[in-house]
Amino acid sequence: MLDKVVIANRAEIALRIERACRELGIKTVAVHSTADANQKHVLLADETVCIGPAPSADSYLNMPAIISAAEVTDAVAIHPGYGFLSENADFAERVASSGFTFIGPPPEVIRLLGDKVSAIKVMKEAGVPTVPGSDGPLAEDPDENIRIARDIDYPVIIKAAGGGGGRGMRVVHTEASLLNAISVTQAEAQAAFGNDTVYMEKFLERPRHIEFQVLADTFGNAVHLYDRDCSMQRRHQKIIEEAPAPGITTEQRTEMGERCAETCRKVGYTSAGTFEFLYQDGQFYFIEVNTRLQVEHTVTEMITGVDLVIEQLRIAAGEKLSFSQEDLSLRGHAIECRINAENPKNFTPSPGQIELWHPPGGPGIRVDSHLYSGYTVPPFYDSMIAKVIACGNNRKSAVARMRTALNEMVIDGIETNIVLHQEIFQHAAFKAGGTDIHYLEKRLGL
Ligand code: ADP
Repeated sequence: MLDKVVIANRAEIALRIERACRELGIKTVAVHSTADANQKHVLLADETVCIGPAPSADSYLNMPAIISAAEVTDAVAIHPGYGFLSENADFAERVASSGFTFIGPPPEVIRLLGDKVSAIKVMKEAGVPTVPGSDGPLAEDPDENIRIARDIDYPVIIKAAGGGGGRGMRVVHTEASLLNAISVTQAEAQAAFGNDTVYMEKFLERPRHIEFQVLADTFGNAVHLYDRDCSMQRRHQKIIEEAPAPGITTEQRTEMGERCAETCRKVGYTSAGTFEFLYQDGQFYFIEVNTRLQVEHTVTEMITGVDLVIEQLRIAAGEKLSFSQEDLSLRGHAIECRINAENPKNFTPSPGQIELWHPPGGPGIRVDSHLYSGYTVPPFYDSMIAKVIACGNNRKSAVARMRTALNEMVIDGIETNIVLHQEIFQHAAFKAGGTDIHYLEKRLGL
């Protein structure tokens, strides 16, 4: 097993990774910014290294600082978590060339599947349906781009090949605004992702977001761990996720899951990953691959009994997957609510000191959070402060348990979106399951 791992992330996911390391007897190094010295996982880590000031660009995105933290602590591997450098192929490459193990897929696979345009090409070649759209990147040819949009038919969506986190996308309803939308998205993509490649897709009117979890080892074994429904979104960002996706048949699940696992075997994928699809009128359309652990990996863990982070660590240590597809089965239902430090009405961030933290409990409740009473949520980073996961023998039970958990939970001192979750859990449409990605914004009148 790996001897010592650098956790190149912060907040709940850093704590989650630290716990998995402990379970396997792996020593941990928490690297943190000056604003994060009091985080729970930093206080609990075997070793800590301050890697820079508060802004992410100077700390959590600072590749040399993270790699030298691994050097000075004699660590053997780096776990990037999600966000920050987790899907950065150059970072994965630099980690490897410095003599450390990057806990994730090989850099060339991150490049191939992390770029949305090349991932779509790979999936098309494998015969997986994709959203009708431009065949590859848009060229600097206004007439051609107008023609492509007419062919696809409005509304269309312009997407950055390197985009992520719900950014780098623009919906276009009319031809009059097409060319401007393309150039604005290109400029934003260049500034945000250092890559101005954009492509065009049909903007689907009422799809659901359904994704498949995969795990693959370095021996060519790959399995899928079923699907998740992440359709409850605001501004293309997920706020509630569940597994399995309501209303999907076993045949559909098995077919799509197997195709994802097959792609992993074909391209030499290793570690955990997610294949994302839009689902409308009984048809799956591939949209992108996330070549990393995801926020919502927890719901898959609850219905499969597989600890995805432990599997990532084992795979990185060169172990074979200890189970095959046939060994996996799906048990019950799990739902996750992302708790954010924000105003629940206008969504402005609400950092500050937590006066009282009282997490919920009881059967089927899991809370992944770095909070403690007295902790101060800094204003510099993502606003997610906790994930509440409820599972039960069926969806109804998971929903009921989540409602109790949301009512029990106390976070005093800052504003949170708990009340928004409480409201959504009252909605008849949510209780029925299978709402589309536009449901929440429409319902909230956003
Ligand atoms: P990101 O990498 O930022 O997560 P994705 O490509 O996964 O971007 O898209 C995020 C979300 O944007 C999807 O879950 C969906 O809600 C919306 N979206 C993306 N493509 C389309 C499309 N063609 N039609 C409608 N909605 C889309």
